[in-house]
Amino acid sequence: MTITFHFFHKHAIMGKMVDKDEIMTNVIGLHVNTNEIKNYKHGYPLINKDSIKNTNVLINEGAIVHLMDNNLQFIAKGYYGKQNKGIGWVLTHKKDEPIDFGFFKEKIEVALKKRKSFYTDPNTNAFRIFNGEGDGIGGLTIDYFDGFYLINWYSEGIYSFKEHIIRALDELGEYKGIYQKKRFNIKGKYIDDDDFVKGGRGEFPIIVKENGMKYAVYLNDGAMVGIFLDQRDVRKAIRDKYANGKNVLNTFSYTGAFSIAAAVGGATKTTSVDLAKRSKAKTIEQFSVNGIDFEQQDIIVMDVFDYFKYAKRKNLKFDLVVLDPPSFARSKKHIFSTAKDYPALLKNTIEITEKNGVIVASTNNATFGMKKFKGFVNKAFREMNVPYKVLEEYTLPVDFRTQPNFPQGDYLKVVIVKKFK
Ligand code: SAH
Repeated sequence: MTITFHFFHKHAIMGKMVDKDEIMTNVIGLHVNTNEIKNYKHGYPLINKDSIKNTNVLINEGAIVHLMDNNLQFIAKGYYGKQNKGIGWVLTHKKDEPIDFGFFKEKIEVALKKRKSFYTDPNTNAFRIFNGEGDGIGGLTIDYFDGFYLINWYSEGIYSFKEHIIRALDELGEYKGIYQKKRFNIKGKYIDDDDFVKGGRGEFPIIVKENGMKYAVYLNDGAMVGIFLDQRDVRKAIRDKYANGKNVLNTFSYTGAFSIAAAVGGATKTTSVDLAKRSKAKTIEQFSVNGIDFEQQDIIVMDVFDYFKYAKRKNLKFDLVVLDPPSFARSKKHIFSTAKDYPALLKNTIEITEKNGVIVASTNNATFGMKKFKGFVNKAFREMNVPYKVLEEYTLPVDFRTQPNFPQGDYLKVVIVKKFK
């Protein structure tokens, strides 16, 4: 791979063509703040802006950096890439390990082996094969959808290693085609583009299988593909343990994936509520590919907060309510943040849940952990003066590998609670 920059001490000499691996001899040294040294020595993988004294030396994303202690001793090696508050990821603690094609191939090969049981499962063909720092390379995820790979690049830095990563996928087995999402414009958002990379173009939707259920997936139509793979275990639990014979409400329903699981699991009826206009057609499609008559279900385009008011006015109650809001959302009337507003959301939910009903409370907000989330649940029930019991808890499924030194990486928190009274 050739790139057009070269590092010499602190100065970048532009315009010179060098092989990226060659830059290794002229790496950039990052001086870690004294109080952070221990963390990086113990394997904390995210290079935070606030942890580095001399971020001014960072110029070109994708550059290899060495973290160093106060005595200029090597701690770890990583790359420069801006992602939220992070400015890069640690890749290795071995000073002499080259960050070259072989490095990326080995990481992906190990990751693929860890997903072996998914490849041989006849009922599931959509799963994550590479989960960022959990698989040793922060800023990169790769999902598998029935033979197609979808790569998420979370910074320009990781994107600069694209050739290595695609070549590794080429050498590690067959695939139908590769798509990508570049999630690194100025605001860290998705760059709308033709997402096709190589191989064959899919005919979308492709219909993937998950525990025997079917989901329509579009790999070339915006940032979201139609299903969030990280909720697989929760969908299965809803189908197998909670839905049978129940009247189910699915709020923030997107394409209705939870509603499908509930209907397949024997729900008497599902109601899906989402603000986005296109969620209705998308939900109809998901029901249809599963052979479920969508006309027997309610699919409502409405602000969830308005729906709560409507349901209370009409005295509607549900046996099972799924609550899976985005971390942040702005509608015409509300600015919602899970970190602040979850208890209020849950209180509204409790009000329209039947006696002995079940609530599936979920969040993907990485800024707080399970303990705090369960605190929100407790606060909501306490303030409503309603007793409850936690039936089950879920975090990320096994294909979304995480590492113990980076608990924020395990962002998914789902608590299934039973309402008494
Ligand atoms: N639970 C879904 C994923 C939710 S994604 C699943 O498992 O597939 C978040 C969804 O919330 C988006 O579809 C978005 O349109 C919707 N949304 C955001 N704010 C909303 C609001 N105030 N009322 C209703 N839906 C909202």
